[in-house]
Amino acid sequence: MATAATPSSLCQGSECLVLGIESTAHTFGVGIARWGSKGPELLRDSRRSYVPKSGGILPREVSQFFSQVAAKVIEEALSLNSISARELDAIAVALGPGMGPQLRIGATVARALAASLNKPLVPVNHALAHIEVARLTTNLRDPVVLYVSGGNTMVTTYVDGRYRVFGETLDMALGNLLDTFAREAHLGPPYVINGVHVVDKCAEGGQMIEGIPYVVKGQDVSFSGILTAALRLLRRGARLNDVCYTLREIAFSAVTEVTERCMAHTGKKQVVLTGGVAANDLLNRKLDMMARSQGGVYAPVPKWYSGDNGAMIALTGLLALMSNITVEPERAYINQMWRLDEVDVPWYGKLL
Ligand code: AMP
Ligand code: MG
Repeated sequence: MATAATPSSLCQGSECLVLGIESTAHTFGVGIARWGSKGPELLRDSRRSYVPKSGGILPREVSQFFSQVAAKVIEEALSLNSISARELDAIAVALGPGMGPQLRIGATVARALAASLNKPLVPVNHALAHIEVARLTTNLRDPVVLYVSGGNTMVTTYVDGRYRVFGETLDMALGNLLDTFAREAHLGPPYVINGVHVVDKCAEGGQMIEGIPYVVKGQDVSFSGILTAALRLLRRGARLNDVCYTLREIAFSAVTEVTERCMAHTGKKQVVLTGGVAANDLLNRKLDMMARSQGGVYAPVPKWYSGDNGAMIALTGLLALMSNITVEPERAYINQMWRLDEVDVPWYGKLL
């Protein structure tokens, strides 16, 4: 669907290069996206993730880590692509949703970079970026999207200028459910080893047991009751493998059901999975089977782009820049609660 549209007047020539900065949660990432003769493309990106030694993530500790690595990650992204900062047409930054202290580091670095280079600054919504990188890389251009990560769980699709949230979690995110259960059951941290979640590893040899509720309320899902029930089963002596198996089965089935309903409701035939949990093999199999049974097609975002990264911010920033969306550096406020359905997507079906 990408046309050979000419880059906007905000770009230097027939090409357009945007550097994107991600810092909403545990990863400081920097990517570069280019508009070339074939439309938008992702160049190589650089990232560093904060790994807690124990427990969850403390925003202040992560933000200190971010300020230590920021300059290095930016330098790396540029040198990996042999691009100098002067060649950039704009700086894009994720201004939300996310955690305040971390968002502030990314915003401060981006403002300083844009001001010193005298280039436009482009505000990017982090959730939108997870979706746009999935649309680009899967080649499914008008999909129903399941976005599942450490902090988000939603089923969304584009209608009339914006992504509409069809269903979401009423409490915790799917990734948070898996990580919190793993922590309480002493399976981690780390929660993901060689690309496999420790709950998956633990589910091997397990089987379905009674006692964990399946909750879909309208179009929404809820995971806190699942977590409480799973921990109660463990305290009462259930086999850990069986609890892992059942929790995972129930949680993945719930998000698959809501995704199926969105397909049925909108009549759309493409399904895309994005966000950190998109790296999960079982969830991929469930969604693939569901999409086929509806006569549709399914694809996940490639694993390299499933977790938080700067490339997706650069891509979305590029599309926004070419749609003349920029922000004055002094007005580039972070927004921890910035919702996906508040963002206009004027390039949908045109530039991507
Ligand atoms: P994000 O917030 O988008 O960076 O995603 C991080 C979340 O993805 C964390 O909750 C991880 O536990 C989760 N995650 C990463 N890899 C996997 C996997 N293979 N299976 C399930 N969850 C995963
Ligand atoms: Mg994310």
